[in-house]
This record gives sequence, structure tokens and C-alpha cells, in this order.
Amino acid sequence: MPVPFSEINFIDIDQEHMLGHVHSLVAGSVVDGPGIRYVIFLQGCQFRCQYCHNRDTWDMREGKLYSVAELVDETLKYTRFFDRSHGGVTVTGGEALLQATYVDLLFKQLHKMDIHTCLDTNGYASPQLYRGVLDSLLDNTDLVLLDIKQMDPKKHLALTEVDNERTLTFAKHLAEREQTTRIRYVVVPGFTDDLDDIRQMADFIAPMKNIERVELLPYHAMGEHKWQDLGFDYPLKDVPSPTAEKMQQIKSMLEIQYGFRVLL
Ligand code: SF4
Repeated sequence: MPVPFSEINFIDIDQEHMLGHVHSLVAGSVVDGPGIRYVIFLQGCQFRCQYCHNRDTWDMREGKLYSVAELVDETLKYTRFFDRSHGGVTVTGGEALLQATYVDLLFKQLHKMDIHTCLDTNGYASPQLYRGVLDSLLDNTDLVLLDIKQMDPKKHLALTEVDNERTLTFAKHLAEREQTTRIRYVVVPGFTDDLDDIRQMADFIAPMKNIERVELLPYHAMGEHKWQDLGFDYPLKDVPSPTAEKMQQIKSMLEIQYGFRVLL
């Protein structure tokens, strides 16, 4: 009998039957980690990013319930693509850490089959969970994609309605664990494209030896229709995408001044 999932669910249940709230499943992504990825979008997010392109993932009560075993079965259909491309499975959201126990169980199963695992997260987790479920999950995670939205605390709050302290603490935790990590940064004109803010982020991650590269993502309004479909006004209606010149300027700064590998 399936057991409904809750975030703080540490009881020893029949693990294969733990249920997670899944928004959607996408096969064949090449932008969510190395190689060809099977991407699992989970439901629920604590952030309220004004540019969110997955507005329909916010509500934890929505989505479809999948057991760990069902997701593993889905994943197994694509293993030949993983083998050929050095790909694997990426869990994202919404925010994957809201269902950390579920993802932990899933990644454990995938690792038993030598499938590469990647966690895309905003890093907003209570440090109290680090030594328990989170470290267990990280032990079974091959690559973390950590989204840093903005280094300036006030601007972060204005952009996401959440402060960035937990995300930055999580980044330090990943560095202490020497966990292979890529930083993802969305460049939004007027919100996250100030070079001083980006320098602050670069100064913060520069000493971290676990950072494989920085991925710069240009803001786009492709998720606007999802806000409208749900009956909400899209907050960044008049904000354009950053210019190619601006993106190149940021990339060059991070490469030349800091020596990061930067993907645009
Ligand atoms: S963290 Fe991601 S899913 Fe959550 S609101 Fe921000 S962009 Fe949307």
C-alpha cells in the first residue's frame, strides 16, 4: 500500500513505495547536467522568484504522485542514452530539497544501477537537516547544480520573497564536503545584472575548490503564459532578456578576473 510522502518522514517504511509529488518528467534534456538527462521536476517551492518559469510547480499539493519504484522504472527506459552520452537523472523543481527523503531514496536506487545523479536546487534547507537526510542525499548525488539568485540579501528578498542565508550556508556546506558543484546564475536586467553583485558572488565562491564551473543563464519570459494560465499577473512583463554583449561582459569578468570556467 503506497505511503503518502511528507517532508519530515524518517520512519522506516517500505521505501520503494514512498510517494513524491511530481510535476512532470522530461526525457532527453541536454541542459540539466552532463550528457543526455532524464529530468524529474518535483512539485513545491519555498521561493517566489519574480521570473519563475515554472510558476505551476509552487503548490506542493498539486502534481501527480509517483512511488520511488515507479520513477526508477521510468528511468530505466532511457539507460542506453545515459550510457552513450555519459548522462543520467536530474531532479529539479520546484525545489527538490522539499522532498529530500524521497530524492534520497530515489538516488540510492539509481546509484545501485550506476546511474549518474544530479540535484538542481536553490539550496534552501535547514542546516539542522544537514547531518541527517541531506548528507545522505548528498552522498548519493554525483553533481549539484546550485542556483544562487542574488548575493545582495535585500535584492534577493525583493526578487524571491526569501532571504539568501540558507542558500549561502548550503554552498559552504557543499564546499566543506568537497561536493562537485556547478553554480547557476540567472541574469535578469535590473535585478541580477549589476556587476558589483556578481563580483560579490564570485568573491564568495572563489575559495571553494568544489566549484566545477559557473553557468550563466540569460533571463527569458518563456514561462509568462504559465502565470497567465493560473490567473496571475506576470511581474516582469516589461523586463527584456539581457543583451549578448552584457552576457559576454559578465562571462569575461568571471573568466579573466576569477579564473572560473563559465558556460553561457
Ligand atoms: S526557485 Fe525555481 S521553481 Fe522556485 S520560484 Fe524560483 S525559479 Fe521558480
